[in-house]
Amino acid sequence: EEEIPEDHPRYQDLLTRHRIEKGVEKGITHLQGMHAEGRGSAFDYLLGEATIPSADDAERVAAAHLLLADHPVLSINGNVAALVPGEMVELAEATGADLEINLFNRTPERIEAIADHLREHGAEDVKGLEADARIPNLDHQRAKVDEDGIYAADVVVVPLEDGDRAEALNEMDKTEIVIDLNPLSRSPQVADVPIVDNIIRAVPNMTEHARVLADEDEDELQSIIETFDRETALEQAEARIRSGEL
Ligand code: ATP
Ligand code: MG
Repeated sequence: EEEIPEDHPRYQDLLTRHRIEKGVEKGITHLQGMHAEGRGSAFDYLLGEATIPSADDAERVAAAHLLLADHPVLSINGNVAALVPGEMVELAEATGADLEINLFNRTPERIEAIADHLREHGAEDVKGLEADARIPNLDHQRAKVDEDGIYAADVVVVPLEDGDRAEALNEMDKTEIVIDLNPLSRSPQVADVPIVDNIIRAVPNMTEHARVLADEDEDELQSIIETFDRETALEQAEARIRSGEL
């Protein structure tokens, strides 16, 4: 990361790409994660590479959901682990959530590499290694989750999630928070709280909101949640992209 000058106009994008490349080298990120990153990068460009106001709202609402939850879980895949490992650990700490590794291309080696990587970034307990439960209506490999993790969770954060799995999770009666730069992708389309923002900006901002909201009572958190409209959040992101105003 030292090689990228911080005053470069596209610093964040270059940093993101570099972290994914390192993730692939380390065996954390699948090669397909580079394609996902490329798609994300194009949408981020169209969003002006900034957190738009509707995304900031969604991030605050997501923080309120996590604070109110009985059993919140943050899902980690290969791109998430490469891009924001320490930031996910901090969000988990700020909200009392568990971290669970949840891979589209699941191999024992990648699971181990990601668990080690998260521990290097301060994670104490990492779930997803047991895989002793299944999400209904998904093929066997994609369905694996921890019984006392995502399976039992009442609120889940699934960043950069595959559309099929986002749908299947949603049918399980959980509050689903999706972070995805493409507002037209199925995952944000099915989410209860779609966050259309780069995960690199979204996660630290959610943590900041969680810290500010930590002392609020339940009624206040509930009223923050009730002000949110998922359709409006998706429409505002799409409108920003279509406006061509950077
Ligand atoms: P599908 O419609 O089948 O889901 P897809 O193009 O969404 O196809 P995925 O593999 O699900 O394919 O793509 C990953 C998603 O993650 C894309 O929607 C992309 O915009 C998003 N994405 C990639 N990098 C980031 C990032 N850094 N922050 C937020 N979202 C990202
Ligand atoms: Mg998608």
